[in-house]
Amino acid sequence: MNHIQLICDIGELNEVFTDTQNINDFLQKIVEMVAKHMDAAVCSVYLFDEDRNELVLKATKGLSHEAVDKVRMKLGEGLVGLSLKQLRPIYERKSSAHPSYKYFPDTLEEKYEAFVAVPIVRGLSRIGVLVIQRQRRRIFKEQEIVTLRAVASQLANMLENARLFMSLRVPRYHEEKKVRPLKLAKGNVASEGYALGPARIIDRDRVFESFLHREYKKKYTLEDFNKALSVTEKQLEDLQAIVEEKLSDVASLIFTAHLLLLKDTEFVGAMAQKIEDGMNAPNAVLSVAKRYVDLFSHGENHYIREKVQDIEDLTIRVMGNLVKELSELYRCNDHIVIARELYPSDMLKLSSEGVLGVVLVTGGVTSHLSILARSLNVPMVIIDSPRLLSIPDETKLLLDAEIGNLHVNPSATVTANFHSRNEARKKISIKRMTVKPKTYTKDGQQIRLMASINLLSDLKVAKEVKCEGIGLYRTEFPFLIRSNFPSEEEQYVVYRQLVEGLPGKEVAFRTLDIGGDKVLSYYDMTMEQNPFLGMRSIRFSLSNREIFLQQIRAMLRAGFDTDIRITFPMISSLEEFLEARNAVIESIGYLREKKIPHNSNPLIGIMVEVPSIVDMAQDLARVADFFSIGSNDLVQYMLAVDRTNEKVASFYIPHHPSILRAIKRITDAAASENKEVMVCGDMAHQEKYLPFFIGTGIKTLSLEAAYIPKIQEAIGKVDSLKAQNLAAEVLSTSKISEITKLLK
Ligand code: PEP
Ligand code: MG
Repeated sequence: MNHIQLICDIGELNEVFTDTQNINDFLQKIVEMVAKHMDAAVCSVYLFDEDRNELVLKATKGLSHEAVDKVRMKLGEGLVGLSLKQLRPIYERKSSAHPSYKYFPDTLEEKYEAFVAVPIVRGLSRIGVLVIQRQRRRIFKEQEIVTLRAVASQLANMLENARLFMSLRVPRYHEEKKVRPLKLAKGNVASEGYALGPARIIDRDRVFESFLHREYKKKYTLEDFNKALSVTEKQLEDLQAIVEEKLSDVASLIFTAHLLLLKDTEFVGAMAQKIEDGMNAPNAVLSVAKRYVDLFSHGENHYIREKVQDIEDLTIRVMGNLVKELSELYRCNDHIVIARELYPSDMLKLSSEGVLGVVLVTGGVTSHLSILARSLNVPMVIIDSPRLLSIPDETKLLLDAEIGNLHVNPSATVTANFHSRNEARKKISIKRMTVKPKTYTKDGQQIRLMASINLLSDLKVAKEVKCEGIGLYRTEFPFLIRSNFPSEEEQYVVYRQLVEGLPGKEVAFRTLDIGGDKVLSYYDMTMEQNPFLGMRSIRFSLSNREIFLQQIRAMLRAGFDTDIRITFPMISSLEEFLEARNAVIESIGYLREKKIPHNSNPLIGIMVEVPSIVDMAQDLARVADFFSIGSNDLVQYMLAVDRTNEKVASFYIPHHPSILRAIKRITDAAASENKEVMVCGDMAHQEKYLPFFIGTGIKTLSLEAAYIPKIQEAIGKVDSLKAQNLAAEVLSTSKISEITKLLK
């Protein structure tokens, strides 16, 4: 027996694997090859299913083939499970004598007592176990075990891929019943609130696939198809009308892509043709849609991939209107949606369709999707657990987006508790009415509370809570959800509504902050490896000067009779600020010359988000009119933690000493030049940071309006002298854990 030969052969299999069509055949080839080379009566491969914490027998030479896919064991169960749990080979002359031995009757393995199990591991990830067995009298030698370990490490790579393929190949809707019951999942709150209702898993691929695999026994005619098209068109037009009424600034055209597709003669025409040629209508719809999905799925470009989504969405809708019993499968109204990923336009659609809440399995609480969910009042929690996508549709859920819990099939007690807390929450919202127009600390120091606005619909709450003005208007939302850049005129209309919405109050417009997690589907930004470090924000505006100038003119015109500020996001150097400011000066000159009413004296400031300007604070404070600390990005860039990645959420620590010291430096620099500093971003609405801000000398906060009553009340309890002492103590503390304690 030549062990080196075996290792080489396995290496060659690697190449076979890439083009093999059938994973089971591939695994079978492996076990046969190993059994032959090792002269073993049995060789088996078990793969580890992480979601279920279970090893599954996937291929065997020597044991009963009936056992494949049937024999399953938990991590730690039996000798095979033990080997993977303890990440060590297990070698036994007489396996049945081992205390952990477990007999699986399906395998018929009792004859093979000499046993070696070797774990297959890749990095930290448990892939599976390779097992060989012989009859008792033919025990394994040390050298053979060494060889098997070498084989296992060679296999790790291939098997990891095989495992992935297999999980993709098994349609998840067949698996749902087998998943261990999940009672509670914990995550982070992205948008506060509660929701109680049935689950809807948004996994377009899955719904689309399940439609493809169905049998449509009933015959549907061309007439049925045409009827389904007109019902779909009416539904889409109605939805479009609802969003346009509620969200005029951002909703323009969100269902247009679907409506256009519905009228596309090639797309719909090809379906009709197939029906005329005798194909049953559901199959005709699906086969044409599938052709387009396949065509676009490999697109590099974000825009093309979004098209796939449009096609799938529309097809699912048409199918629901054609085959009535399918319509229940994608309805989101009065449901709690669980999704892997959503676009901002999805969030708008879901909100207009009446979704109760959203659970996202990837993302970050300071991502712009979360910000949008808050503006739309959709409770949302981010839970890093792909397993949630396997929860069967219609399962009863309770989403507690106050603390970030998702209860699956909640008990009567949990539900009763929910109802009483929900009532209490409603009472708190009535408290908004009692909010005062000005905010003071316990000892009478005034703090300005401004509103951060994302959508025009936020104005209603901003007015109710008597905000003192708008500290941050994120202008990108009207850019995001549409099919082309809004014109100067279109922007003017939106900005003017903002100014008129809070008469006499100051408005700070932030110029376009695009890029990162805010991608314009209609602008072909080549795919960036690191979009957060790419052509983002002010870099985009300065490189697309005409778009920048149009936006600035729209702002200046909208604010002709009120105090406005213009804030530049992501400034990273003095030159960048001066160049951006020049664009404002040039725009003022242009409007003056054209005699168009405008504001000729806006305050011009900087968002402090990029660490490079912390050291430049003094230089910038001389030229800028104000600083606006964008805490979401400042934390992201200073700590190198992606704000949209839940997996690294525990590293996203706003009270890291370097963040707090940077805030202090910025505030001191501004104070020495008599300039204002405001804090925006999520830190501004977290009560625990208030004493630090006040103690550091920050007198203005901009926060989402709904938080203003709570923050006003909390500020009323802060004593500014004590806050100063606390800030000094915090600033001289080096350990995060100690700062955490101090801020509590
Ligand atoms: C911030 O970064 O804190 C901020 C206010 O801007 P945005 O969240 O829109 O990036
Ligand atoms: Mg920012």
